[in-house]
This record gives sequence, structure tokens and C-alpha cells, in this order.
Amino acid sequence: MKTADVIIVGAGPAGSVCARKLSEGGADVLLLDKSQFPRSKPCAGWVSPGVFEMLRPLLPAYPHDCTEYRRFSIALKQLKLTLPVRQYAVRRVEFDHWLVKHCHVPVVRHEVRHIEKRGDAYVIDQEFSAKSIVGAGGTRCPVYRTFFRDAANRAPEDFITALEEEFHYPGADPRCRLWFLQEGLPGYAWYVPKGNDIVNVGIGGKAEGLRSQGVSLKQHWDRFIRKLEQHDLITDHSFKPSGWNYYLRRSPEVLQRDAVLLAGDAAGLSTRDMGEGIAAAVHSGIRAAEALLEGKEYRLDDLRRYSLFSLLFGR
Ligand SMILES: Cc1cc2nc3c(=O)[nH]c(=O)nc-3n(C[C@H](O)[C@H](O)[C@H](O)COP(=O)(O)OP(=O)(O)OC[C@H]3O[C@@H](n4cnc5c(N)ncnc54)[C@H](O)[C@@H]3O)c2cc1C
Repeated sequence: MKTADVIIVGAGPAGSVCARKLSEGGADVLLLDKSQFPRSKPCAGWVSPGVFEMLRPLLPAYPHDCTEYRRFSIALKQLKLTLPVRQYAVRRVEFDHWLVKHCHVPVVRHEVRHIEKRGDAYVIDQEFSAKSIVGAGGTRCPVYRTFFRDAANRAPEDFITALEEEFHYPGADPRCRLWFLQEGLPGYAWYVPKGNDIVNVGIGGKAEGLRSQGVSLKQHWDRFIRKLEQHDLITDHSFKPSGWNYYLRRSPEVLQRDAVLLAGDAAGLSTRDMGEGIAAAVHSGIRAAEALLEGKEYRLDDLRRYSLFSLLFGR
């Protein structure tokens, strides 16, 4: 049996940053993830400069391309506007690998299936044991499933379903574009050009809204792709989008039970207007680590519920 003070399940931004902060504080930590890194994660990859400010004391300079935007071209139903913003875009395959490479704790490739409490310890799959567990395994986190399913953190009306694809597309239009509430979509679509000729396009919306309309996300995706082709934004590309689901932030949230804590998407922390979750993952990873190191209450009261402020001001 491998033992540690803390076992973190999931090495995405929430888990890797929590591991880094705990290791800095001298804790004995194991980080488990079912994937081999670098791994891809469906995500447009927008981050506000505030995310890098949170990471600066913990990590070396970011070595990959980080595209900066000073404006977004937005369509809101029929209204078209240009919004001044302070945003970056990263590629998650690079960003998450950078975080996990610098977490300074052993990372074990393992898919967590079963967790139980035995005395004062938590035992995972009869192979790992720890006094505390951090659930950072995203929407399908087994820690959430085992200990928090009845916690009311996740409401059906906050369930977001998304489709996206990131691909190489030389000569892409450099403007970042968003289309809100188009053709009845209860959400928005995006076109995010990044460095090194990479483009990320995607669409996401509330699953309940789609169900009540009787229109699938795939039907909205097909309309969106036609729009990209009509506007000459993407032509001659054979799309193979990936799907993903997650939850918007609710309040009040249950983040801790005994020595088990949740961070990032496992806790359902994405912003209510834009569904952004990287900042919340990083913020909650740091806060969860501080709570464990200092034995203090784990709270996220100062975490923003909406993206608009950070979109405009970068923090
Ligand atoms: C299409 C799409 C676009 C998005 N765009 C943006 C954006 O532009 N900006 C933004 O801020 N947010 C965006 N988000 C949200 C953002 O991607 C998430 O909020 C963020 O990834 C949460 O990080 P996390 O560390 O909590 O979870 P994740 O990044 O999901 O990491 C969880 C990790 O846990 C591992 N894991 C899962 N189950 C197990 C298991 N049983 N055993 C071991 N390991 C396990 C996984 O392999 C994974 O590595 C987007 C989401 C989607 C779906």
C-alpha cells in the first residue's frame, strides 16, 4: 500500500496547483491521474492575466505560446459589438502539462474507482492510503461521486454540454469572436485563433434549455460550422469535435466533508455567464492546499461567479 498525507485525484489545473502548493508547505503528497500527460482537454483555453498572477509565486515562467487579446468581436442575438478585454488564450495540452511537470510531487498514472474510509484513513482501490483526499478529477470525479453526490452542488439547470475542436489552420483570421444566443442556442459559440496557426472553435449551452427546445447540441454545431464557412473563417476542414460536460457554480457550495475536499470542476465552479473554470480550478487548488496546511476552514467566498469583470480588467 502506498501512503501519503494527502492524495489528490486528478492532475488538471486544480489538482496540479494544489499539489504544488502542498509540496511547498512540506506535505507528503501523491497525485493520481488516469491519463498520461501531455493529454488534451476540450477547452477554449481563455485565461485572464489574474490566473498567471496566482501561479507566479509557485511556478517558473510559462514557456509556451500565450496569445493576448485586447478585444473580442461579439454578436449578441442581432447586436454586434467590439468589447475591450484583457485576456490570454493557452493550449490546454501545453498548459496542463506545464502545471503537472512543476507540481513537485510523485504523479502516478492510475484510474481511481473505489474509495473508502478505514479508521482515520482513506483507502483508494486497495493500493493507496492517505489521511486527506482532494477530489480534483473534473466533472466525473470519483471523490465527488463517493462523498458529495447528495451535496446539492450540481443542479440540472446548471449542467452545460459543449462541443469543441482545436486544430492547425494556417492563415486564420486573428480576431477572437463570440456568438451569444444565436438561433435559440441557450449558450454561446466561439472562434479563438491562437499562436502557431492553431484555432479553437466550440459551442456550449445549458442541457435543459436544449432539451426543452428539442434541438440537440450537434444540430447547433452543424449550423455554427455552416456560419464559419459562410464567413470564410474556416473552409475545407473536416470537423471531428469532442464533447464534454460540466456544471456552473452554485451557492452555497459544499466543498469539504471531514478530511475530503473538492476543487475545480469536481466542485462545479465554472462562472455562470461564460462557463470559465480554469481560474476557479487554480484558485480552489491553492485554497484547498492552504486549508490542509494551516488546518483552517476551506472557503471560496471571494471567487468570482461571473467572468465579465475578469474579461474586462484581467483579474
Ligand atoms: C468545451 C469547453 C471549453 C471551455 N473553455 C474554457 C475557457 O476558455 N476558459 C476557462 O477558464 N474554462 C473553460 N472551460 C472549463 C475548463 O476546461 C474547466 O473548468 C477546467 O478544466 C477545470 O479544471 P479541473 O482541474 O477541475 O479539471 P480537469 O481539467 O477536467 O482535470 C481533471 C483531471 O482528472 C482526471 N481524472 C478524472 N477522473 C479520474 C479518475 N477516476 N482517476 C484518476 N484521474 C481522473 C482527468 O484525467 C483529468 O486530468 C471549458 C470547458 C469546456 C468543456
